[in-house]
Amino acid sequence: MTNISLYLQCFMIYNRPMTPHNTSVLLIYTGGTIGMMENAENGTLVNFNLEQLQKHIPELQKFDFPIDTYQFDPPIDSSDMGPNGWRKLVNIISENYGRYSGFVILHGTDTMAYTASALSFMLDGLSKPVILTGSQLPIGVIRTDGKENLLTSIEIASARHPDSTPIVPEVCIYFESHLMRGNRTSKINAEDFNAFRSHNYPVLASAGIHIRYNNVHIRHTDPEQPLKPHYLLNTDIAVLKLFPGIQENVVEALLGVPHLKALVLETYGSGNAPSKDWLLNRLQQACERGTVIVNITQCHYGTVEMERYDTGYRLAKAGVTSGHDSTTEAAVTKLMFLLGHNYPSDEVRRLMDIPLAGEITV
Ligand code: ASP
Repeated sequence: MTNISLYLQCFMIYNRPMTPHNTSVLLIYTGGTIGMMENAENGTLVNFNLEQLQKHIPELQKFDFPIDTYQFDPPIDSSDMGPNGWRKLVNIISENYGRYSGFVILHGTDTMAYTASALSFMLDGLSKPVILTGSQLPIGVIRTDGKENLLTSIEIASARHPDSTPIVPEVCIYFESHLMRGNRTSKINAEDFNAFRSHNYPVLASAGIHIRYNNVHIRHTDPEQPLKPHYLLNTDIAVLKLFPGIQENVVEALLGVPHLKALVLETYGSGNAPSKDWLLNRLQQACERGTVIVNITQCHYGTVEMERYDTGYRLAKAGVTSGHDSTTEAAVTKLMFLLGHNYPSDEVRRLMDIPLAGEITV
């Protein structure tokens, strides 16, 4: 299955009896600002141990169900998160799937949207909440946003309908009062607390005095289906963002990368590219060689419609596949996931065109 060695470091932080509905949450700390404190001597940010959580967030005591914790050792800045870390998370969740009713992942904000997108594909058949959160200010800082983000994420991960099924059985990001589908989310702000957006899909819940769930937009899978964890990812892909004046040798170099299997092409507007013959020829030749080229727009809102303008239509004719309203994060991780299955190019193109985990609107 996997070559990951998993050092389970779970320990009960609140050793309370199980609740009637067997609610329990596993809190996984991967790293990032939320779990850091200021070093009193030099002011730098250093990771702290999850055992210190209770000291900083005594409100955790008020949850009337067990919360166990697992900490990455060492915790990592999310710039260092990638396929190995995603596999590790999938392994932790699948190994503990029967034991917990929900999972909360504390993660650096920088690549949180990539991790959330990857997990949405890798945790096939997920029917329990997996909520990623983090913060812009460390938890030990007085004005931290981490406290509310963490407490509300735990509340959402444990929320059930009256028939005791989970309210949000999908991979989400909770940040600054908004619950968003993970594979629809991007980090949009390096400074504000309000740092994430789901541009092309409604928020799944808003937290004010009450947590208001947007039930019609929450995705449900058959709870009877077992979780099917996937570990195989292929990273032979590249992202090319078009810009006015882009040179042929740049495109040539990228498309000529040995073993390149797929390219995410970030185009203009509704999926348009310069109508230069050299560009269309290069793209067409790559598609004919079997490289999957997926067209997503550089705009934050809206979708690719290659049949709308001639400059988009010519891309479609060259063999480029529509990425619809996908985020870059979702397109990149979905390609890694599909290529990891070793599907032929046409099958990857077909699957890029349909939503696997609610990541695109078709
Ligand atoms: N560099 C940090 C990280 O992504 C920033 C954060 O946690 O917000 O791990």
